[in-house]
Amino acid sequence: MLEIAKQVLNMINNNGYKAYMVGGFVRDYLLGIESNDIDITTSATPKQLQEIFQDIDLSSEEYGSVTLMVHKIRFEITTFRKEIQYIDNRKPLEVEYIDDLYQDLQRRDFTINTICMDKNLEIIDPLNGRIDLERRIIKTVGDADAKLEEDSLRILRAIRFSTNLGFCLSNEVELAIKKNKHLLKKLSYNRKKQELDKIFANKNAMQGIQLLLRFHLEKELELERLKDIKNTDSLISVWSILNVIDIYPFNNSEKELITSINQALKLNNLDPKVLYDYGLYVNSVAGAIKGIDKKKITEAYNSLKIHSKKELEITSEEIMELLKKGPGEYLTKIYKDIENKILYGTIDNQKEEIKNYILGKY
Ligand code: ATP
Ligand code: MG
Repeated sequence: MLEIAKQVLNMINNNGYKAYMVGGFVRDYLLGIESNDIDITTSATPKQLQEIFQDIDLSSEEYGSVTLMVHKIRFEITTFRKEIQYIDNRKPLEVEYIDDLYQDLQRRDFTINTICMDKNLEIIDPLNGRIDLERRIIKTVGDADAKLEEDSLRILRAIRFSTNLGFCLSNEVELAIKKNKHLLKKLSYNRKKQELDKIFANKNAMQGIQLLLRFHLEKELELERLKDIKNTDSLISVWSILNVIDIYPFNNSEKELITSINQALKLNNLDPKVLYDYGLYVNSVAGAIKGIDKKKITEAYNSLKIHSKKELEITSEEIMELLKKGPGEYLTKIYKDIENKILYGTIDNQKEEIKNYILGKY
């Protein structure tokens, strides 16, 4: 990854522009954490970058940031800039490209995110982010109150970094969160969800949730059930407990899954019919929320007599022939009945036995 990053930096440098790795990649590199993508800050504008790397798509250029894929590594390349005036405490109204790294670092959120590294892996750290990284503290670049007021997403980012890295928030950041938390209401649900996903998916998610609760952000974030979360088995289990599919953006399959998990939560997840109807995954998530051992659920599921209609030893044609009837609603009823009888062991999943049962009853 580093080798490819060096090549990318080299190419930009060789064209006469400054370029450094910055942000999450450098922070995580110094902490020995693997990164998924690499942020680069450069004096080259998106257009100039496109001349260097032909396959850059300028459609996302809006905020002076472009994406470059090299050998499956994603580079987020951002032109040195000043941000002028925020709309709705969210997005900068306009950006002004500049030629000065130091000024670019000033507009960033936290000191630990301002450490730069050049193509020789030399650290450039004018804001002393490394000291804060070593002290394991989240401090804003400049005045905390002004930073969080300017873009309230930084409240969630502070909590995310504190949670995921196990860092403390500086007193100033804590005070600024308390003072500006009401601004979270104005923030788009999309941006909020992106940060919340990163908090909830982390192994320290419970600490993150404690922190959100400590600042009483459940109200501002409209996550009334945050306090009900006792363990965090998976991202989907957290969102299921929160059950905010009408407020936050989820795709249809996520919505369906969350709805099913909420239904399964009210049922006995070791019951054969519940296991059969909702399947192993939904019951495991619901079970985990209730503290039921996953192994127990898996065993109960595996020992089901049937797992789907396909496993029934009788077909609808055979039932119709047996009862000398054409197709109709009655088939669904019979199916449900025999599934139940087989699941609870009243009859065996055997053609003759099923036939006898049907003849006796219908
Ligand atoms: P991740 O590990 O999630 O990539 P990151 O710190 O790299 O964390 P990004 O969203 O990739 O976060 O942003 C890259 C860099 O851009 C940050 O490190 C920070 O310097 C700056 N940045 C991102 N979002 C903001 C913001 N809302 N306000 C100020 N600076 C920001
Ligand atoms: Mg990043």
